Amino acid sequence: MTTFPSGTRVSSLLCVLFAGCLALCASSHAASDGPAPRSEVAHSVAKPAASPDRVGAYVLSPERDAKARSLAKVRLRVKILGIAWGLLVLAAILRFRLAAALRDLAERHTRRKILQLLIVVPALMAVIGVATLPLAIYGNGLSRSYGLSVQGWASWFGDWGKGLVLTALLSTLLSGVLYALIRRFPKRWWFAFWLASIPLILLGFFLTPLVIEPLFNRFEPLKVSRPALSRDLLRMVERAGVHIPEDRFFLMHASQKTTALNAYVTGFGGSKRIVLWDTLTSGMEAPGVLFVASHELGHYVLRHLLGGLVLSVLGVLAALFIGARAVGVLIGRWGPRWGIRDPGDWASLPLLLLVASLLSTVGEPLGNLYSRQIEHEADRYALELMHHLTADAPQAGAKAFQKLGEANLSDPAPSALRVLLFYSHPPIAERIRFCLTYDPWSAGGTPVYVR
Ligand SMILES: [Zn+2]
Repeated sequence: MTTFPSGTRVSSLLCVLFAGCLALCASSHAASDGPAPRSEVAHSVAKPAASPDRVGAYVLSPERDAKARSLAKVRLRVKILGIAWGLLVLAAILRFRLAAALRDLAERHTRRKILQLLIVVPALMAVIGVATLPLAIYGNGLSRSYGLSVQGWASWFGDWGKGLVLTALLSTLLSGVLYALIRRFPKRWWFAFWLASIPLILLGFFLTPLVIEPLFNRFEPLKVSRPALSRDLLRMVERAGVHIPEDRFFLMHASQKTTALNAYVTGFGGSKRIVLWDTLTSGMEAPGVLFVASHELGHYVLRHLLGGLVLSVLGVLAALFIGARAVGVLIGRWGPRWGIRDPGDWASLPLLLLVASLLSTVGEPLGNLYSRQIEHEADRYALELMHHLTADAPQAGAKAFQKLGEANLSDPAPSALRVLLFYSHPPIAERIRFCLTYDPWSAGGTPVYVR
């Protein structure tokens, strides 16, 4: 799950076109599924799971089961509708020459490119934001009706507004760089922009937890709000044989907005951190919380974010290479009809976004393939680490996922196609199965990560 609440489909396209400055959409939340324990998780580390009700598979109550399946169906519809709607909005902007009209307006007022940029891009982003607002409202209404969102509408609109301003600011900045390069290197701009995008992606990864995420949620050092849990995590880190300072653990006050449980790893370099939602730390039993935390630790130790970063950089290169050619061909053919003079014309921006949107839609399953793989490895890491810390690591994991699935209304039986296309994590049922069957110790094998 992402902590960027009002990101529309279209704004997420900027990830691709604009080189992941909105890295928040992409990779930070490697974890995205943790249930949670009671807040006083203190002494849990060496304790066996006390509860007599053992988890043998992902099973929901009939009522919850029906709700989860119906939510999965609606979500799929909303997802597809969101993709189509985003494309349609951009196509309509092209068809009715809105960007060309904004360019004409800007050129009438000033000859300075920088001022034209400041007129055209924020206005276009505002139009796109407003045009995709109904779907965003529908999505939040849906979350509320299923009891997943507890955020009031005023607060939600506040987040939406902040998201829009942020998108406009970042888009303006990136468009400034992009169009300067297109005009300077009409043939090789895609490569020049890719080079320029690398430090921007790194900066985006670095700044996301420091600047962007705090705009939407309140964060606290874990040692301040959950000192006992923080100490337990330190003990886990020690057992894992790695060094992670205590100030890398944070608690996010998610309960003001959601009932869902989650945890994630985010940041880059000095801003790298593990974040646990308060819904998790207060909604799950202690061994479950520690299991989720050890899964996050796995992402951290195994440098999964670095992998995501490399993948983003390569994905942007591929997208720019293909996108630049597509844009050239499309402008050659329909440029006059859309009022676009050439790729360096401000009026080409909706076309660039449209192409980026298509490429990001096509690329999403590839990103998900990588994501599911690292999620599985983080689960393995968690099981291996918990093996040394609790008497029944498989049950700790299985119960954690059961609780996560219940709280987040995870689909008990998604189709293979849906998993392939849209799932960034393995289905919960599969993860529980893995917890209950992974046992390199008794089979005479050796664990992969934690000896
Ligand atoms: Zn994960």
